[in-house]
Amino acid sequence: MPKSVAIAIGAHPDDIEFYMAGTVLLLKKAGFEAHYLNLASGNCGSVEHNSTTTRSVRLTEARAAAKILGAQFHPTITNDLEIFYTPELLRSLTAVVREVKPGIILTHPPQDYMEDHTNTCRLAVTAAFARGMPNFRSTPSRPVADYETTIYHCMPHSLRDGLRRLVIPGAFVNTTSVQPKKREALAAHKSQQNWLDVSQGMNSYLLAMEDSSLELGRMGGKFKHAEGWRRHLHVGFCKLDSDPLRDALGRNCLINKTYEDSLG
Ligand SMILES: [Zn+2]
Repeated sequence: MPKSVAIAIGAHPDDIEFYMAGTVLLLKKAGFEAHYLNLASGNCGSVEHNSTTTRSVRLTEARAAAKILGAQFHPTITNDLEIFYTPELLRSLTAVVREVKPGIILTHPPQDYMEDHTNTCRLAVTAAFARGMPNFRSTPSRPVADYETTIYHCMPHSLRDGLRRLVIPGAFVNTTSVQPKKREALAAHKSQQNWLDVSQGMNSYLLAMEDSSLELGRMGGKFKHAEGWRRHLHVGFCKLDSDPLRDALGRNCLINKTYEDSLG
């Protein structure tokens, strides 16, 4: 039942579009129901507007992006730089997971360049873990259910962890066919053009996304544009060999043998 449902859980509006949207689009094409959730509102992503205005602009942009991706939008649960590993946020996120019952969860990697991303990953993993635990209360209350779910971590920003180490994906997903749509979804975050230029020295956030997907394509050696994924350990979530992303995407999902061999 839950195997044909996927949810992308990002930290900020535009993270899903940067790192995960190509895979979301391909899962949609494969018949999956897709869900879209940014934990934070994006309220700090501006040097021109105050927090309230920025939050409202970014909510509109995120809704538009989710629509382009054909994904069901879920409201944010906190603000930028306030994504902490707290019982409150965990209860809110667990409610979404219990409602959606995803067979595939796409989220940030365990180490990334900023803590909002890292904490989003931690919260997503535990919310998934709590899906069938009746003694953990979600907010709002949602019925628990026991089913298999598999978690995949996207690439960190710059393809490096916080200690500058290059991160190699366990799987490359061929996003070439959906690249224009992915670009369109990212471009829906118009307010971020100026902000990312000023704050992070990106000439254009669209170009930055394009460069990253081309680099991942080169890394995998098979596809022009790619997104990279690492599958979470199965314990507490699914069977040892469950890999629903590979099963759903077929030839568009290249398992990185070098990575698999390195796992021991
Ligand atoms: Zn982010």
